[in-house]
Amino acid sequence: MHKDPAVRLQDYQVFGEYGDVNPSISDAATFTFLSTEKMSQIFQEEVEGCFLYSRHLSPSTNYLGQALAAMEGTECAQVMGSGMGAISSAMLQLCKTGDEVISSRTIYGGTYALFKNFFPKLGINVHFVNITDLESIKSKINDNTRVIYCETISNPLLEIADLREIRKICDEKGIKLVVDNTFSPMVVPAYKLGAHVVVYSMTKFINGTNDCVAGAVCGDHDFIASLRNVNDGAAMLLGPVLDSLRAASIFKNMRTLHIRMKQHSSNAMFIASELEKMGIKVFYPGLPSHPQHELIKTMIDPVFGYSGMITIDCKTAEMANNLMIKMQEKQVGYFAVSLGFYKTLFSSPGSSTSSEIPKEEQIEMGMTEGLVRFSMGLDNDINDTLDRIKACMTEIGML
Ligand SMILES: *Cc1c(COP(=O)(O)O)cnc(C)c1O
Repeated sequence: MHKDPAVRLQDYQVFGEYGDVNPSISDAATFTFLSTEKMSQIFQEEVEGCFLYSRHLSPSTNYLGQALAAMEGTECAQVMGSGMGAISSAMLQLCKTGDEVISSRTIYGGTYALFKNFFPKLGINVHFVNITDLESIKSKINDNTRVIYCETISNPLLEIADLREIRKICDEKGIKLVVDNTFSPMVVPAYKLGAHVVVYSMTKFINGTNDCVAGAVCGDHDFIASLRNVNDGAAMLLGPVLDSLRAASIFKNMRTLHIRMKQHSSNAMFIASELEKMGIKVFYPGLPSHPQHELIKTMIDPVFGYSGMITIDCKTAEMANNLMIKMQEKQVGYFAVSLGFYKTLFSSPGSSTSSEIPKEEQIEMGMTEGLVRFSMGLDNDINDTLDRIKACMTEIGML
């Protein structure tokens, strides 16, 4: 296997029926069979190159899954209708009533709400910990612990999970490590570093065009086959399916992911260091001031940088709000949630993407109300972008 995720993806070639350089798009919900034996066989096991019904797999969702597996370096991947579909399916495939999960407390708000409010209804209890504190992870392990869950680079404070060390903890107890790598595709090889299962919201960097929601689960062949199993697979039975037409369009967008990640990262690195020099409190894993800079340096593929997410502290909610509105006015980007777009997107985590997390817990995590999270865009003249940001900060009295 080539060590570069972009090369592996580039080497994954599939053609259309007439030698088309892009594969044909599957335009069907169901597939015909020429023998009754084949039809019954596919209900028992996976049959290579044979399709049954598009909730299960279609040629187009299959191509995208294989492209993702090539990128992540896993044997297999299953694409899903959303990142939440990927997370909930993967977790429910691994956990049953009575099982326990240890999760980072700094995770995407939707995932937090799923674990905190929904899983207890199924008798699955989740312990939230400071994922950077390995001792606190260990202290929550018991015989019922099935999964440790974290984000490689967490939302919104950009803390780093030490995947190698967490995997060691898992191995001692036969626990699975599930990692959400949405903030750092290609940047951090989460599977190689120790995740058993890597989940993505493809809505973000992977697709990059903000025209749909989609997700993926990458893992070994057995796990992905269990997700797809017609009798007890979460992907099959909960139905978080991705449409073939969308799968085909994401597949094509993935062809430029490596170029986009480099540009997002270099723009973010530049803006983060300049803002820090101006005396602003900046959270960015690429800066030596980031508490886990030395750790992340050992985890990234340096070609792709430190990804495109920056969080800054504007001290008050009012200042944060004024800055975001002003930056939208001066076309720095859009005041919008989500990430990985060509345009810079910014939002204030406490009142948006992390609002599912109760205020007291936000404070405990170190989330203050003046935070603004940036997903740096693909701007070609980043000096000009910096000038615009400075002008905004000056006008609102932040500088
Ligand atoms: C957006 C996001 C999700 C949820 O993905 P959807 O595609 O919106 O369902 C999960 N995790 C992270 C880190 C995200 O940013």
